[in-house]
Amino acid sequence: NVSYDAVMRRAEFALNEAKRRGRNQYYEFNPEDYDTFKKSRQILNELRRSVAEGYDGFDAFFQPIVDHDTNKLVGAEALMRYKDMEGKYIPPVVFIPLLEESGLIIPTGRWIVSRAVEMCQKMQELIPGFYIGINISYVQIRKSNVLDLLINIKNKSGLPDGSLVIEINESGEIECDESFIDFCTKLRDNGILLALDDFGTGYSNFHYLNRLRPNTMKIDRTFTVGAINSEYEMELLKSMSEMAHSIGLKTVIEGIETDAELEKISMVSPDYIQGYYFGKPMPVPEFMTFVSEYV
Ligand code: C2E
Ligand code: CA
Ligand code: CA
Repeated sequence: NVSYDAVMRRAEFALNEAKRRGRNQYYEFNPEDYDTFKKSRQILNELRRSVAEGYDGFDAFFQPIVDHDTNKLVGAEALMRYKDMEGKYIPPVVFIPLLEESGLIIPTGRWIVSRAVEMCQKMQELIPGFYIGINISYVQIRKSNVLDLLINIKNKSGLPDGSLVIEINESGEIECDESFIDFCTKLRDNGILLALDDFGTGYSNFHYLNRLRPNTMKIDRTFTVGAINSEYEMELLKSMSEMAHSIGLKTVIEGIETDAELEKISMVSPDYIQGYYFGKPMPVPEFMTFVSEYV
């Protein structure tokens, strides 16, 4: 027995769901989808509250990036974390899309850029040339002036060129239009580097390489694992890595978890490694301890 209001809410949900799936699509109401939707809306409300309350519950974690040949720590990737009011971590795959859809990625993205710059300054006192990778969503580029934000904060910080690396993934939403290419060019003109994230998961990688002219190619764990388990994929990854090197790109292999994986992936001659094997994403104090113990 469902009330009139509840029926209307479900119908509205179903209509939006059909719209979200694109033109000329139909959507049949499904209680599980509706549950997910209700949960998402709850999380979104919490995210809104957190942003309004000075980013309460948000944290910036950092994951080490290590030079493959020398084993030296060269940088870290900044990764956003969110704990709800009950202190439970919500996975990024759940809350990042909510931030993007709601536009909240604009203030939270600004917030993590500041955390990343602080961390980079702190780390460069210990390791000169240390760099931080920062994930930027397409929404931030299209709907906010993230370019000026990045240039201003870099100039104010006094960080040398190459200290900040913007990680962009081809979510399928990215259009290599003039304004996007302009964004990439201006970043480079201002000493901020560009990494193509999650390489091997999309479908128009070559197009991106040509138009965006990134400095770094990050190979996704799905591709890494594939190469470890299949000779064909290993050959493919090797050729791709050679191609990357021949046009002057640095490669980062993501998602190395074990000794055996590290050994196998050496065949690819990567420049840098990022994975649980060297270190998981950590809050700042833990990262500092990690650094002091890392030789
Ligand atoms: P990503 O940019 O590809 O980040 C790397 C992800 O791989 C991280 O997941 C990291 O924890 C995970 N990872 C690293 N090493 C290993 C490994 O050895 N094994 C396995 N299984 N996983 C590993 P995380 O932190 O859950 O982040 C997921 C995604 O959320 C990120 O993928 C990125 O797309 C997005 N994200 C995270 N923080 C931000 C942010 O500040 N802004 C934006 N726009 N997106 C973010
Ligand atoms: Ca990334
Ligand atoms: Ca990645």
